Amino acid sequence: DPRLQGISDAIRVVPHFPKHGIMFNDITTLLLRPRVFKDAVDLFVERYRGMRIDAVAGIEARGFIFGPAVALAIGAKFIPLRKPRKLPGEVISEKYVLEYGTDCLEMHVGAIERPGERVLITDDLVATGGTLCAAIRLLERAEADVVECACLIGLPKFKDFYKLNGKPVYVLVESR
Ligand code: 5GP
Repeated sequence: DPRLQGISDAIRVVPHFPKHGIMFNDITTLLLRPRVFKDAVDLFVERYRGMRIDAVAGIEARGFIFGPAVALAIGAKFIPLRKPRKLPGEVISEKYVLEYGTDCLEMHVGAIERPGERVLITDDLVATGGTLCAAIRLLERAEADVVECACLIGLPKFKDFYKLNGKPVYVLVESR
């Protein structure tokens, strides 16, 4: 698809951020180009429109940029998966391991309203897959049916298609 090159070109790579040795893929430069931003949302919408998705779950914070746009376009609800102590209601939490230490994602109890709701998980980038795996576990504990995970950017091994916890991961472009 010719739109993918534009998406790849609009992502800025920032060396040594947030710390030395890390090549950070910055999507804020893509957001400054409305045509390219729309192309990215459209590619997801074209893929998921026919899949009977009930909910799009976005991972804080950059999953909140793309998830709601896709949710509105396909007629699905949006569920924020947040860092600890941000959600005011009763939550379920899932810890996950990072390169240094651990982190945690939380979801409101009641966000999944019926067992078997079909959910798409969104984030900007998949690296090790640890964050997406925690999101999958969280949703499955709430008896959701996770259909797929969708990210703008994947490490090369995630190119096109890959599985995490048995769930497919779909990425638009490879990280440079
Ligand atoms: P993983 O859990 O797959 O190792 O890391 C993915 C998570 O880290 C995502 O939530 C993503 O937003 C963040 N992340 C890691 N590296 C980058 C990067 O280079 N660019 C951006 N935008 N996010 C990153």
